[in-house]
Amino acid sequence: MKRIPIRRSCGPCEACCAVLSVDEIGKSAEATCPHQLSLLETSGPQDRTSGCSVYATRPLGCRTFQCLWLAEADPKLQKYARHRKAPRLFGPSDRPDLSGLVFHAPAVGAPAMVSVVREVWPGVSETEAGRGLIERYSARRVVVLICGDRRTLFGPSEELEKVTELLGLSKRKEG
Ligand code: SF4
Ligand code: SF4
Repeated sequence: MKRIPIRRSCGPCEACCAVLSVDEIGKSAEATCPHQLSLLETSGPQDRTSGCSVYATRPLGCRTFQCLWLAEADPKLQKYARHRKAPRLFGPSDRPDLSGLVFHAPAVGAPAMVSVVREVWPGVSETEAGRGLIERYSARRVVVLICGDRRTLFGPSEELEKVTELLGLSKRKEG
């Protein structure tokens, strides 16, 4: 079956500003970015943000970051996924400011097979929609949910065995 290419852009989403660390400005994942004009509130997708006050000169880490929702629309990755007949992992409503979950590639030094997911607002990973999205993603690959100091691993059983041993993390789901 012919696959129609997808196009995506961040649009009004600024979820990564709220949950990721930016070394250049000393921002930790938990810290508020001083340049985010209006922060994401913690109650859900209806609360909007309104931009970066230093957008034109924002750090390289901010310029180059792509969450996995956005990266899935990269033409090269789409070509690769088509070639491998890999199913799409995300839909339009999974954009991080709507789903409340930011999936991203592992940090430098972490095993390449483990993606990361972070909550935009606390508790969203425990909602039906949040759990559903994590389960859909982790049916095919390993992902670690980071909530403060807590790390929880999801993924297919054979992959989980390897990663759990490697990282000493708690295993949450076998699929
Ligand atoms: S979380 Fe993804 S979609 Fe949202 S602003 Fe960041 S890169 Fe764009
Ligand atoms: S500097 Fe701007 S783009 Fe970077 S995290 Fe802060 S608000 Fe977001």
